[in-house]
Amino acid sequence: MPAQLIDGILLSQQLRADIAQRAATLSASGRQPGLAVILVGEDPASQVYVRNKVKACADVGFHSVLEKYAAELPEAALLDRIAALNADPAIHGILVQMPLPRHINPHKVIEAISTTKDVDGYSVLSAGELMTGLEGFRPCTPYGCMKLIESTGVDLRGKHAVVIGRSNTVGKPMGLLLLQANATVTICHSATPDLAYHTRQADVVVAAVGRRNTLTADMVKPGAIVIDVGMNRDDNGKLCGDVDTAGVREVASYITPVPGGVGPMTITMLLMNTVEAAERT
Ligand code: NAP
Repeated sequence: MPAQLIDGILLSQQLRADIAQRAATLSASGRQPGLAVILVGEDPASQVYVRNKVKACADVGFHSVLEKYAAELPEAALLDRIAALNADPAIHGILVQMPLPRHINPHKVIEAISTTKDVDGYSVLSAGELMTGLEGFRPCTPYGCMKLIESTGVDLRGKHAVVIGRSNTVGKPMGLLLLQANATVTICHSATPDLAYHTRQADVVVAAVGRRNTLTADMVKPGAIVIDVGMNRDDNGKLCGDVDTAGVREVASYITPVPGGVGPMTITMLLMNTVEAAERT
């Protein structure tokens, strides 16, 4: 039987309905959740991402501001804006769209965001909170992947999870979240000599590489859960993930489609972190 598709659009709708209710409760007490999104430069993909984030805010009843700056914005001016937003009581979350122009140090920018407003969960402190199991903001994409896995009803305790990719924003936090859920975790990367050796033993595979067909059917254990984070283009320019979905579907028990899997969940978890930030004030 082909794997069941994990519908990220449906799960997102359910979670966003809950977020909208929480936002309405906060707004009724004068604490409407507020997200500030900053875009520096004219990167076309980034423009689409920030537009989608601002629209998602409106849909769940958040206040949002979109600040767009020319690519030449000096780093000091961006840091000043972040300081002003840190002090703004109407703003509970601050997101600076990456990548930034080369003359701006992204680490400096991320660390300038107040920890209480770091809804992307990218700061060193948020990473430390995740590593030590303290409450804090989890990076949105891996957090969304965990919700997708949870939605299958499969308990991760004692399962072997293999994460392909070790970026600070996806692979590493994904590994930590799976560990926290009591899975046994292996993290693979470009220097892993035999990727298939690891993935064939996995009850859960999360592919976060950025290269299509990284995971094919012969690399997957029958009945595994497969989460496809990748966002790539096929030869016809169509969006695709890192997984050969058609092939892997014949072997896995659950699989996320691309599009319609992890993508919508990333923005949903940004909304979730923002409503939580507002509730903590
Ligand atoms: P990244 O920073 O480029 O990291 C890619 C990782 O893949 C690196 O750790 C790299 O290893 C590893 N890798 C590369 N080739 C490999 C190979 N042949 N075998 C095993 N590992 C290999 O990318 P990212 O930001 O984590 O994103 C990964 C993908 O997810 C991209 O397609 C991105 O567009 C997508 N993404 C989607 C969403 C969403 O909302 N759907 C959000 C974020 C990212 P090294 O560390 O050794 O170089």
